[in-house]
Amino acid sequence: MEAVVDSPTTPPPSRGDAAPAANALSANGLRAAQSARAKRGVPEGLWQKCDGCQATIYRKEAEEMLNVCPQCGYHWYVSAVQRIAQLLDAGTFEEWDAAIRPTDPLGFRDKKPYAERIVAEQKRTGLSDAALTGTGMIRARRVACGVTDSSFIMGSMGSVVGERLARLAERATAEKLPLIIISASGGGARMHEGILSLMQMAKVSAALARHSRAGGLFISVLTNPTMGGVAASFASLGDLVFAEPRALIGFAGPRTIKATIRIDLPKGFQTSEFLLEHGFIDRIVARQDLKSEIARAIDYCGG
Ligand SMILES: [Zn+2]
Repeated sequence: MEAVVDSPTTPPPSRGDAAPAANALSANGLRAAQSARAKRGVPEGLWQKCDGCQATIYRKEAEEMLNVCPQCGYHWYVSAVQRIAQLLDAGTFEEWDAAIRPTDPLGFRDKKPYAERIVAEQKRTGLSDAALTGTGMIRARRVACGVTDSSFIMGSMGSVVGERLARLAERATAEKLPLIIISASGGGARMHEGILSLMQMAKVSAALARHSRAGGLFISVLTNPTMGGVAASFASLGDLVFAEPRALIGFAGPRTIKATIRIDLPKGFQTSEFLLEHGFIDRIVARQDLKSEIARAIDYCGG
């Protein structure tokens, strides 16, 4: 199962937009995160280079387009907090299960002890772990909504991410809410928690199966990157699977696969466009259209 853990080929997310803020992302914390970000000052952030077309882009213009390049349409990283703000009606988000916090059950260390890494990531990102879950409204439709953030240990799924998502699915079932999960996870299962991380794949998948059996709708949205154990579990299990344009989506990274099987991979392998063509996803949805498309899908499915 080595392929499940962090892929060395997954591009690191842009760290520039992570909001340093209070750990608890209650409504207050959310506001604090947004204002902390807004106050961060001009010099580093006025211009940014686009990974898609290499053009230098006026950051404010890109932000007005939800962090999409105005020149080439490349979709930049957005944090879980920004994603919630983009997707849900203003002021409607209520976080669930914020009290579930990561621990270090294995006493794991790589370059540094996992316990220290968790604290450092929490401080840097303002999140307590890589998933933010809760409820809110999408164009006045109440939903259960989860988002993973690739800037927190590559968005990898450890016990907290798995538990929050499983509880999100269970509560969506109990309250008969459409379930939306937006994945931004380059890391797959979190190696720092070993087998406990791998177990989350089955746990979340089982909760989603119960949601489905009860007639619940689950829309999975794949963003750049969605890899490893996340792609191999909940992210692929949507009744509808949407993806943002040009996202990297797959299991092991392209370089890992190439090194293993020693053949050239097809052009554009593991992109949204390739996966749409091959029937793995249902639709590519640009970020600006995501809110409307989800609302429309909920109505269409009688959610
Ligand atoms: Zn561009």
